Amino acid sequence: MATKLEMATPRQDGRGSDLQESAKRHLWMHFTRMGSYVDHELPVIVRGEGCYVWDEHGKRYLDGLSALFCVNAGHGRAEIGQAAADQAKELGFFTNWSYAHPRAIELAARIASLTPGDLNRVFFTSGGSEAVESAIKLVRNYHRMRGDGQRTKIVAREIAYHGVTMGALAATGITELRKQFEPLMPGGCHVPNTNPYRQPPGRDPLWMADAIEERIEFEGAETVAAVILEPVQNAGGCFPPPEGYFQRVREICDRHGVLLISDEVICSWGRLGEYFGCQRYGYQPDIVTTAKGLTSAYAPMGACIVSDRIAEPFMADTAMFAHGLTFGGHPMSAAMAMANLDIFEREDLCGGVRDREPEFRAMLEGLRDLEIVGDVRGAGFFQAIELVKDRDTKETFDDAESEVLLRGFLSGELFRRGLICRADDRGDPVIQLAPPLIAGAAEFEEMEAILRTVLSEAWDRVVKH
Ligand code: PLP
Repeated sequence: MATKLEMATPRQDGRGSDLQESAKRHLWMHFTRMGSYVDHELPVIVRGEGCYVWDEHGKRYLDGLSALFCVNAGHGRAEIGQAAADQAKELGFFTNWSYAHPRAIELAARIASLTPGDLNRVFFTSGGSEAVESAIKLVRNYHRMRGDGQRTKIVAREIAYHGVTMGALAATGITELRKQFEPLMPGGCHVPNTNPYRQPPGRDPLWMADAIEERIEFEGAETVAAVILEPVQNAGGCFPPPEGYFQRVREICDRHGVLLISDEVICSWGRLGEYFGCQRYGYQPDIVTTAKGLTSAYAPMGACIVSDRIAEPFMADTAMFAHGLTFGGHPMSAAMAMANLDIFEREDLCGGVRDREPEFRAMLEGLRDLEIVGDVRGAGFFQAIELVKDRDTKETFDDAESEVLLRGFLSGELFRRGLICRADDRGDPVIQLAPPLIAGAAEFEEMEAILRTVLSEAWDRVVKH
């Protein structure tokens, strides 16, 4: 059965508007089984304000996912649009290839002022996959410039999502996303993730970090370029690191001359209550990849934020990183990112997440009385509920059951009742929640009511039968 490829997107019954007809005829939606919309309406979202969005019929939804973990400052921030309009009047576009322009310069300096340690050099991209792709090319190039050109391999974790371009896909650890496109870039190696719910009993809690060292040694350290990890792994359902994990990984990387890439496409810009996820866990990466919340998704933009040490060989004499993207550092996106960061500062969005995380988490923990809830985990405004068949044995659903549960019931029902969140089974089935960073008590209460009703119904109507 074909599962795990598509985001579990909701379908609604109903007659088609012009938009519906046109979308069905011309729009190729991403990670979407287009055929399933032949007899169903696709959700067309037309407007947003704060934590809410509205569809073409005027129905309101609580955006419990910040669209796709990215509208961090919330919807309807007209000042970000105003920054774009002002920038369009001043300079709509110029490139970062051999030229610079004020907004990219200002934004690079501002990002550098927010990063920990010497992460001071910013290479802009158009999104997250390009940021990861650029980081992979950069680490290979860095080693080659230092006479270590055999270091090409990238160690990543099982089930982790690092994007879909061919290089990034080699790091992505989701078999269903990879196998249609093989052969991939050689050198992608995978190690166990930090799923806290399914740890073998009695093992040293840092065994998953040690597995990285074992893999590096197995491959031959002299062939390994970098380890890429998210601070909290998204796919599989918000796996936080155990205490001391990243410190151990940093030591391992240093011991073997391997670089550490912190893939913060989701985990930066306040998602975990800090500008960068690595700040929450107190480790120093060589490169941070980011995107999404950098502009609160009002414009496409990503970045590779590189330490002085790694950038240094590229800054001398005739050296060059032979890599570029027309839209990297686009002035409109950069202006919008600056306006977004003004909001972050003015409203202390990171501090707000730190203050309200306990309340958000307590709401989710309160759902543990439901039989279908096996685990609640995550960090900041990035949390997951793992669904199980049996809480005592932690028995999960097989592919067919998961298909019925997630796509046949949960995603449609949650949406119908007005909550946008993610029902995902790239690992074991989970519901993920990552609301805009402005969400508070009222939104948590609304989420709780919908989740409680729908998860109870799922248990009664889908699981028990
Ligand atoms: N890396 C991580 C950790 C992500 O979560 C994502 C997307 O969700 C990507 C990379 C790819 O980003 P994009 O979809 O902007 O290409």
